[in-house]
Amino acid sequence: MKARSFRTALVAGGAGFVGSHLCDRLIGEGYRVVCIDSLLTSTLENLSGVLCESRFSFVEHDVIKPLPRGLTADVVFNLACAASPPLYQLDPIHTMMTSVVGTNNLLLFAAEQGARLLQASTSEVYGNPAVHPQPETYFGNVNPFGPRACYDEGKRAAEALCFDYLRLGMADVRVARIFNTYGPRLRASDGRVISNMISQALADEPITIYGDGTQTRSFCYVDDLIDGFMRFIRHEEALPHPVNLGNPTELAIAEIPALILKMTGSRSEVVFCPLPTDDPCRRRPDIALARGRLGWQPKVGLEEGLARTVAWFRLVQRPEALRRERAPSERAAS
Ligand code: UDP
Repeated sequence: MKARSFRTALVAGGAGFVGSHLCDRLIGEGYRVVCIDSLLTSTLENLSGVLCESRFSFVEHDVIKPLPRGLTADVVFNLACAASPPLYQLDPIHTMMTSVVGTNNLLLFAAEQGARLLQASTSEVYGNPAVHPQPETYFGNVNPFGPRACYDEGKRAAEALCFDYLRLGMADVRVARIFNTYGPRLRASDGRVISNMISQALADEPITIYGDGTQTRSFCYVDDLIDGFMRFIRHEEALPHPVNLGNPTELAIAEIPALILKMTGSRSEVVFCPLPTDDPCRRRPDIALARGRLGWQPKVGLEEGLARTVAWFRLVQRPEALRRERAPSERAAS
């Protein structure tokens, strides 16, 4: 089969943490990029490297609404959705609608354009998994009425929609199940474990472990994930199932503070807080399919990835820390 060459990418959710790295990569590879984003949980600062590019354009738009007229693309990436548990639970109905109605709007657009669409799905579709590690064939163990359901079930419904469009011959889709991802541009206020612990360590504030910290996760550095996306979108055969993209190195949450304390030289203590409802006990991707079909596997180890992430947080958090340090003397002087 002759490989398609793409010229214009539409990235929904392109101002977010993962989306902005994808925009950088696409611009770097010569694409024209149209980024649409509601800016509800993201920021234009993430796009500072590409905003001035003539091949880049930004449209403020919520995918829950039909896409603005006049847009064109031959490849679509759907990354539009709040992704951290505290943020996606803030407005759960909007989260569910973003996944279901938003994905349908993007699939309709892809169908009209004859574009290939990559759907950012999630390891959350496995819920609190009874099978470990999780292969794509595992149907999951999701609480359908708990506080995480707006995200988990929304993403599950979005997968169903994608595969219906594919089976009906309406759109050419690729569904990636993304496991925990970290790196520069995670927002300090985002509420996820890596961003929380790094920003707490840099501010010498208590590092919060939820529950007893024995729950596990497997963390993938963002550049590796973007490599996976690029391989998947270029994969000519539309697979009739999702593909896991994640780093299979698994660790207990309680192991993370020591790594971060060592890297930052922080004096933070570690404190234990209640475990959120339905927090999965363990999570680790089986990436045999990604290895076999896409020739993909992560390259960046946790220590290296964390060091790069800490360096970025130091850069962006310093002005905030300086303001905090200055505050007492400024108060005394007034
Ligand atoms: N977590 C933690 N301390 C924090 C934030 C999160 O111990 O400050 C835990 C959380 O309860 C979960 C794991 O870290 O068990 C990963 O949480 P995150 O929100 O990053 O992602 P999730 O995999 O739950 O979507």
